Amino acid sequence: MLIGTAEAEQCPPGALGVSRTLVVDPNEHPRVGSMQYPETLPLNDHEVVLTFDDGPLPRYTNRVLETLASECVKATFFMVGQMARAYPWMVRRVYDEGHTVANHTQNHPVRKMSVTQAAREIEEGFASLREAIGDPQAVSPFFRIPGLLRQKSVEQYLAAHGDMTWSADFLADDWTRINNSEVARRAISRIEARGKGILLLHDIHPRTVLALPEILNEFKSRGYKIVHVVPAAADRPKTATSAQQWVARPTPEQHTSPSQMRPLRQGISRRRGQEPEPK
Ligand SMILES: [Zn+2]
Repeated sequence: MLIGTAEAEQCPPGALGVSRTLVVDPNEHPRVGSMQYPETLPLNDHEVVLTFDDGPLPRYTNRVLETLASECVKATFFMVGQMARAYPWMVRRVYDEGHTVANHTQNHPVRKMSVTQAAREIEEGFASLREAIGDPQAVSPFFRIPGLLRQKSVEQYLAAHGDMTWSADFLADDWTRINNSEVARRAISRIEARGKGILLLHDIHPRTVLALPEILNEFKSRGYKIVHVVPAAADRPKTATSAQQWVARPTPEQHTSPSQMRPLRQGISRRRGQEPEPK
């Protein structure tokens, strides 16, 4: 797999681009994301990792892909298996355009599960993605729990199977009833507060599609760089890092409760009153 090199030659002039590719070993760092875990990705100041959950959904995922291509940036897509089965060509497009394909369960259950139930969701999700692309190696061992409803038993299952559990470092609340300008404003104010991190977005909402060009433009004008994350493989050694670089530091986003993500499908979030942003 060519990473960020062949594509770079075709980048439109002035595009944001991928500044570097970070190769990670899930076995060494099984859980990332400062919102929930003691470790997060070893990013430098002003580096951002883009992630999109819940797709693929053609009418929105296609537009997200077009925007990402226009800025020549790569993201990680945490896809739902049943969506991948409905739109396998979308999974292939995401992969063919150089993005990282990752798993977000087969059916997106937003509730606590037994390990047996979770294991079925996890493995069926991976199977759907592998089948859609037709190449098991094409699917990363990256996984995000729906609603960020972390469970130790499920995390242990994932780690034991060599999968990397991703939380996030900051949100833009794009599943709530806010408009696209507000999504962009929250993404920008939160990256400015943190300085770097994993941004969680969803490629199933029109407001996210509309907010993305502004988010990327603001990243560019404020000097942020996009980092593409891929798993280590036999022919792709992990990026050299120190343990210290993985240590998550407390941020202004720490108290954004993941439980706010529960009503994802209902599209409205219960506010906790602690959120730093005025509406
Ligand atoms: Zn989700």
